[in-house]
Amino acid sequence: MVAGALVAGPMAVSAVAAPSRTSTSGTSAATGGTGPAVDRTVGLSDFLGLVRRGDVASATIGSADHTVTGSAVSGGRLVHYTVAYPPGYEGRLTEDLLAGHVSVVAAPGSSGASDLAYLLPLLAAPVLLMLLLGARRRRDPGQSGKRGGFPHSAANPAAFAPGRAEEAEVPTTRFADVAGIDEAVDELTGLVDFLADTERYEAAGVEMPHGYLLVGPPGTGKTLLARALAGEAGVPFFAMGASEFVESYVGVGAARVRTLFDRARTAGKSIVFIDELDAIGRTRSTHSVPGNEERETTLNQLLVEMDGFVKSSIIVLAATNRPDVLDSALLRPGRFDQQITVPAPDRRGRARILELYLRRRNVEEVDTEALSRRTAGFTGADLANLVNTAALLAVREGSLQITERHLDEALTTVALGPARKSAVVLERDRRITAWHEAGHALAGLWLPDAEDPISVSIIPRGPAGGVTWFPDPDQLFLSRKQALAQLAVAMGGRVGEELLLGEDFTQGAAQDFKVATDLARRMVTEYGMGSLGPGYVAPEETHLGVLAEKVHQATDDLLRQALETTRSLLTPARATVARAVEALLEEETLERDDLARICQEAPVTGSGGSSHASVAA
Ligand code: ADP
Ligand code: MG
Ligand code: ZN
Repeated sequence: MVAGALVAGPMAVSAVAAPSRTSTSGTSAATGGTGPAVDRTVGLSDFLGLVRRGDVASATIGSADHTVTGSAVSGGRLVHYTVAYPPGYEGRLTEDLLAGHVSVVAAPGSSGASDLAYLLPLLAAPVLLMLLLGARRRRDPGQSGKRGGFPHSAANPAAFAPGRAEEAEVPTTRFADVAGIDEAVDELTGLVDFLADTERYEAAGVEMPHGYLLVGPPGTGKTLLARALAGEAGVPFFAMGASEFVESYVGVGAARVRTLFDRARTAGKSIVFIDELDAIGRTRSTHSVPGNEERETTLNQLLVEMDGFVKSSIIVLAATNRPDVLDSALLRPGRFDQQITVPAPDRRGRARILELYLRRRNVEEVDTEALSRRTAGFTGADLANLVNTAALLAVREGSLQITERHLDEALTTVALGPARKSAVVLERDRRITAWHEAGHALAGLWLPDAEDPISVSIIPRGPAGGVTWFPDPDQLFLSRKQALAQLAVAMGGRVGEELLLGEDFTQGAAQDFKVATDLARRMVTEYGMGSLGPGYVAPEETHLGVLAEKVHQATDDLLRQALETTRSLLTPARATVARAVEALLEEETLERDDLARICQEAPVTGSGGSSHASVAA
């Protein structure tokens, strides 16, 4: 999408020129040349020889007439070369030109759009490359949105020229812009000192590792950390997404890797950041698979570049969520031999991140501790998005201040996905959903060892008719009572349906049973909490044989017992459950406190520290 928009028009074509080295399409201006420009027609192999020698500064590929024109400075004068190439050779040609650091431009052919369209993918590569590498960032990383470190546009065309150190960008991001992942920050702090004082380290004979793998789920701040490291050390930051290395045209990825590292080398001390490393770094196949070739040449190039690094002050960071699939060659000493975990933040981490983002805005007093409990499972990016959504809601209301209410509303949207309010839900379905969800929610509220629900909703979201949203405790140990309570809460949906429909309940509890059965089986086979007593049963032993039957029986006992627990809890309180159901049908979403108020006469229990939200649908 971005690529299409960038290369579709003549604007984009002129944008790839490197003004400092030559003219846009090789027509007039000379680079320090004294004599008049000379035109020459040469053979393709001669021309590529010049490219390899680094003599050619820019080239224009004319797809209509299958010629490439290039400009080179030779003997103090500017020479324009015109070279014919065989049809269909554009891909290889682009690759060779890029490898020689030539600024490549496509000339829109006279036959118009179709020829240009043919070239678009080829063009997209260099244009994107130069945009990504050269564009200056002016915005604060906190406002940069989903794409993190990758700017989409650039104002300064000079920044496109490859290998120009003075164009390198030193981020304004600091460690102070990162919150809730202190351990990862601590690990990188040592590198700031190294980058600031490389000479001292060298004098002392200390060799710093050069390759760091940042491992963690999307949105946890890996890109942010890499930028902050560069910002703190005051060194340039060169970044690329590995999935963008991998295009379908052979050689482009490898050329991009080379260019990226060339730029870093020219800059001297710097940070190179490769996002989504697994896109190119997966284990190489032993036999050739079509489509893999490109990825593997790209990966090989990366390995070559990393090996050339031993004594330099370039630090390479790469981000991935799948270290397990990476080719082992990437992880060898001297390459990405350091791993830094960047986890989704825990409750305290979430509170710190919320504070960071709320501090920057006009906010009415907000209880960030409470909000952090209600945002279990959120990443830093989710939390930034939450605050931004709340700010939007406030602005839409014409309010200058974000209030607790805006955050509540934003949370409902962000956490549970945009509501499908328009979906036509039959009244019967709504009613069944309300009983099902009320069953989960009240089981959670009333069972002493269960967590209170955060909220319960019958607005359909995604595939689910409704959801009850529970926190999971931020604790290391799951006690037997807590495990039993979790099973009972999982049964709440079915019991709720029974209260409405008797024996004619629906399939709506299918997912609940899956979750409950998983837990019950673990209680039996791993935790020693079932009738089998202490001991471990390997998964393969649960398939066949006497032991398998015993496991099945013990699991079944736990599940039936849980169903009974919840039945005996909710059935006598049917009238109260019905009140919660009516409120749900009316309000569609209830927070924990609403629910507790509606069901006042019943005991209120549980509390919620949380790290991962669980959703009972
Ligand atoms: P990742 O690279 O791990 O996918 P990003 O660094 O791209 O995550 O995060 C996207 C955005 O989310 C960041 O620019 C920042 O606004 C916000 N963010 C993510 N994690 C954090 C964090 N730990 N502290 C502060 N902001 C964060
Ligand atoms: Mg990122
Ligand atoms: Zn359910």
